[in-house]
Amino acid sequence: MGREYFIAGNWKMFKTAAESRRFVRDLAAAFTAAPGLTVAVFPPFTSLAAVQGLDPKVRIGAQNMFYEEKGAFTGEISPLMLKDLVEYVLVGHSERREIFHEGDEDVNQKLLATLKAGLKPVLCVGETLPEREAGRTLDKIRGQLESNLAGVAGSQWARIAVAYEPIWAIGTGRNATPEQAQEVHRFIRGLLEDKAPGNRIQILYGGSVKPENSLELLSQEDISGVLVGGASLKVESFSAIIRSGLTLLGA
Ligand code: PEP
Repeated sequence: MGREYFIAGNWKMFKTAAESRRFVRDLAAAFTAAPGLTVAVFPPFTSLAAVQGLDPKVRIGAQNMFYEEKGAFTGEISPLMLKDLVEYVLVGHSERREIFHEGDEDVNQKLLATLKAGLKPVLCVGETLPEREAGRTLDKIRGQLESNLAGVAGSQWARIAVAYEPIWAIGTGRNATPEQAQEVHRFIRGLLEDKAPGNRIQILYGGSVKPENSLELLSQEDISGVLVGGASLKVESFSAIIRSGLTLLGA
């Protein structure tokens, strides 16, 4: 099977609706579509309507979602509200887990709710620096995948992507080496093949990805894309990362 790359940009709490709209237009003009390449951006909720349907080359995702369909949940956004606006939803980003105290049980409920709504979850997992230093990286990842993916069944697997994001590498400028990332990706690939035989689930690397390291990271056998934070906020750097994928696809 030929390679495929999923290049995703998590904008976090940046960009107004007008800025998001301009960005998506400029980004679409900065790269050529190619078979095997998927590009998506994850703007804040307030920008989603503004970027919808702007260009089919740039898919749209949400950064978060609550799992209930409706109700007295002030400040939350439901799967029903997102369904017509986005294709993807980030689930369990480490900033949600750490700053907003989302536990594995919440992440699991959110993941199942995205699938029920027909959306595509990008499940984020990753270890802290103390966990890595204590040699507990793979145990942590296994535990997160076991609990966060509980209850996923049948054809739902084909809609899931996993992002391995070592927490110590997010927003720090310190990326995992391609070898460190590949080791964890291989491990995740093995676990997913046991859970969902026959499904080639995309596994993205995230954590200080930039134009200078994207080609080498994407060259690793089990890295099928990247989830980019800081470097996805500028068209120049994000399109340079997209070009790494295009180069490896021979496009
Ligand atoms: C992220 O937000 O998922 C991320 C990986 O951020 P950064 O690229 O800035 O480290």
